[in-house]
Amino acid sequence: MLLKISYQPKNTDIGQFHHPSPFVYIKTILYICLHHFLFVYSMKRIVGFIAAFFIGQGIAWGQSDSLVYVARYKGDKACAISYTFDDGLAEQYTLAAPELEKRGFRGTFFINGSKVNENGKPITDTTRVTWGQLKEMAERGHEVANHGWAHRNFARFPLEELKKDILQNDSAIKAHVGIPSRTFAYPNNNKSEPGKSYVMQGRTGTRLTQWSVGSKRSLEDLNRWADALLKNKDWGVGMTHGLTYGYDAFGDPSRLWKHWDYVKSREDSIWVATFVEVAAYVKERDSIQLVTEQTDKG
Ligand SMILES: [Zn+2]
Repeated sequence: MLLKISYQPKNTDIGQFHHPSPFVYIKTILYICLHHFLFVYSMKRIVGFIAAFFIGQGIAWGQSDSLVYVARYKGDKACAISYTFDDGLAEQYTLAAPELEKRGFRGTFFINGSKVNENGKPITDTTRVTWGQLKEMAERGHEVANHGWAHRNFARFPLEELKKDILQNDSAIKAHVGIPSRTFAYPNNNKSEPGKSYVMQGRTGTRLTQWSVGSKRSLEDLNRWADALLKNKDWGVGMTHGLTYGYDAFGDPSRLWKHWDYVKSREDSIWVATFVEVAAYVKERDSIQLVTEQTDKG
């Protein structure tokens, strides 16, 4: 008997239990008990035991086709976390990105082009990144994405002005970083319906919900958040601004590094990836129709 699984598109993982469900084990144990009871006073005890084992396995194999599913997250992990950093602060390049990389993680950096220091010119604002630094980060696997050219609040600006602002930032990112921005984070997290439907066009995702990762969070808060994501099988999107300075800065960011150590230690069940990677996965996962059929061939 051959189990054929087909699904489109093909970039999403298929999960398969390596062990039968607990129900199957219970059945197996019941069979073993039954046979043990039947043969307990006979010399054929061992035969009964072996027979029960194969009956149990037969049930497990017979049920295996119903145990195929589309993995909720890449690598069949239980939950996902994307760490996002807003406003293009210089320390996101000097501190956050290297600390992420040490643990094999990559982050998403939502930037405002108007505040990024230009290449080849004296740095006008030492608190902000340069285009060269952003390009370097993108080459190392981080995501550099659109947070509006001038951080225009969607609730306060007319759509026509927002459109120009968004397009200008898209063009600047493409020109300086070399990779188009496929996601967007709303400045001040303010959204308007027309603004939202405009900015979503042609993008993999936009940051609609986020959990603030900053000055108010203790290490315990951060780790509890990861535990809750694991429990609820959720995708958590953390939002950070400042590390030692700037809006909502940690002051001492070492507790963020310790939190990343904690997440790293649970790497077998937590998928840490950029916003665009998880958004693409979830989009594809939710649109998949998994078709399984049994054939007699093979
Ligand atoms: Zn911002």
